[in-house]
Amino acid sequence: MTESMTQSDVQKTIKALKSNRFDPVEYAATAEEAAKIVFGMIPPDAKVGMGGSTSLMQLGVVEELVKKGQMTLQKPDIYLTSSNAITENGKLVNTDMTGNRVSAMIFGPKQVIVVAGINKIVKDLDAAFDRIKGITAPAMAKIGGLKTPCAVEGGKCNDCNSSMRVCAVTTIIESKPRVTQISVVLVGEDIGLGWEADWPDDRKKEINAVFRKNIARLRETIQSIR
Ligand code: SF4
Repeated sequence: MTESMTQSDVQKTIKALKSNRFDPVEYAATAEEAAKIVFGMIPPDAKVGMGGSTSLMQLGVVEELVKKGQMTLQKPDIYLTSSNAITENGKLVNTDMTGNRVSAMIFGPKQVIVVAGINKIVKDLDAAFDRIKGITAPAMAKIGGLKTPCAVEGGKCNDCNSSMRVCAVTTIIESKPRVTQISVVLVGEDIGLGWEADWPDDRKKEINAVFRKNIARLRETIQSIR
C-alpha cells in the first residue's frame, strides 16, 4: 500500500474481504468509532480472549473489557486480534512465534473479531511476506530482546532457524473457515504495527512509538488478569 492510498483502495479491500465471506466487514474512520463497533459486536455475557494485540490496546478495548470482567485467558466465546497484513484481495496474513494466536483465529472460538488500521493493507501476498519479515518480525524480536538475525543492528531476515524465531508459524486466511465467523473492522487510521519502507520517516516513527507504548500497556494488562 502506498503513502497515497485512496478511499477507493480501501473500499476495494473491504469489497474483497466481504467476497471472501468475512462477516461483517465494517469501516470506521477513527479508533474511537472502531471501539464502538467492536463493543457492539460483543454481548455483555461473552467471555473474550485476545491475541496480544497492540491494535486492540490502542483502541482502549482491552482495558474496558478487563474492567467489565469479560477478558479471559481460558476458552473464550469471542477472540479479538489484529492482522499482521491484509491484502487488497481480502486475505488475512498472520505470523506467530508459538502459533497460539493464528490457530485461535481459525478454529476454537466461534467468533473472531479482527481490527486493523489501514496501514496494515498491502498489495498482495508477496508484499505481506515482505512486511512480516522486514518490519513486523524484526520489531517483535527487538522488543522482546531476542537476537535473531533481523533484530541485530543492521541485520535483515535470513530465514533463520533460531529457537527464538518470531515468525515460526504463518497463516493465510483466504476465506472464512467453515465453523468460525470472522468479522473485520478496518480503521481509517494508523493502528498497530506496519508501514511501507517508502513512507515518510515521521509517520513510521509515530507508528513505532505508539506500538511500543501499547506493548508496555498490554503486558501490564495481561499480568492483571493472570
Ligand atoms: S526468519 Fe528469523 S531472521 Fe527472518 S524475520 Fe523471522 S526471526 Fe527474523
